[in-house]
Amino acid sequence: MYTLIDRLAREHRLDLPEYARLVRDYDKDLAAYAAEKAVALRKAIYGNEVFTRGLIEISSICKNNCLYCGIRCENRKAERYRLTPDEIYACADEGYLLGFRTFVLQGGEDPYFTDDVLADIVRQLKARHPDCAVTLSMGERSEESYAALRAAGADRYLLRHETADPYHYERLHPPEMSFSNRMHCLTVLRSLGYQVGCGFMVGSPYQTPEILAEDLSFIQTFRPEMCGIGPFIPHHDTPFARMPAGSLDLTLFLLSLIRLISPNVLLPATTALGTIHPEGRELGILAGANVVMPNLSPVSVRKKYALYDNKICTGDESAQCRSCLQRRMEGIGYTLSIDRGDVRRLS
Ligand code: SAH
Repeated sequence: MYTLIDRLAREHRLDLPEYARLVRDYDKDLAAYAAEKAVALRKAIYGNEVFTRGLIEISSICKNNCLYCGIRCENRKAERYRLTPDEIYACADEGYLLGFRTFVLQGGEDPYFTDDVLADIVRQLKARHPDCAVTLSMGERSEESYAALRAAGADRYLLRHETADPYHYERLHPPEMSFSNRMHCLTVLRSLGYQVGCGFMVGSPYQTPEILAEDLSFIQTFRPEMCGIGPFIPHHDTPFARMPAGSLDLTLFLLSLIRLISPNVLLPATTALGTIHPEGRELGILAGANVVMPNLSPVSVRKKYALYDNKICTGDESAQCRSCLQRRMEGIGYTLSIDRGDVRRLS
């Protein structure tokens, strides 16, 4: 197994059975070995800098019904809200003063955000803050829509593939959603010149080591600029309410493996990771992640963007979130960077 890690660190690729074996049979020592290699690769490219993105959760209204997600349309108990364009600009303006140079607009698939509405918001954000990157995470849209948003100035798009196994995809989603459309969206986004992020939940129901091997293999071939992974955490008003949460150790090990597959990838230590362990995000950075995404949403809506139970940072002001993360990163010897934080190409 150690020779597999060595080979991955050197060649950045393994085959499916090798990935499956690592995921199935790893132990703490192997994970520590992988983390050490991952951190060395990342430091060679990004030094001790951790990039930060201001996350603005623009809507909890969603037409989709993903079985794992707390804001699925069938959850009648979910509190719904939608930020107005002016509220979104205010969050970004505040974020700019706090040092953010990337804004991530994330939300449910809310029909209010038509191409015209969303493109206008992107244009406004780019006009107000020309030195900032705008990242969208608004789910599946048409090719024309992605093109219009790109033309309006959107730089990046996050769309987790959720699972690279089509049968597993069906068990996590309602029949009207499809694995093939999810993958098609990722291909379209790439072809339009976005920096693209894929990703998955660790420990989602019915996931197996073989499926995780497919996820790693997909990342190896697709080569995303960004990759978001975090533990699955049940939400009490979903069909998966009684399913166990994903494992901290496995999430950390997978972060290291993804860094070894893709040394320059932008890899966040996610809020979900910070939710299952009080030092989850620090541990994520120490396993090979290099991005944190503090919340810039208005405090009044934060609790309503409830994808899973017990989400952290729902009571704090944006400035508190930023300084809390800065302290946490400095505590482990890293600095929060004021930079757009684009992917660094390898020479
Ligand atoms: N509507 C957008 C944004 C989804 S929310 C989209 O479809 O891309 C962002 C991510 O949160 C999802 O891609 C999913 O991987 C994650 N997520 C949703 N429910 C979760 C849960 N119960 N536990 C952990 N992560 C979850």
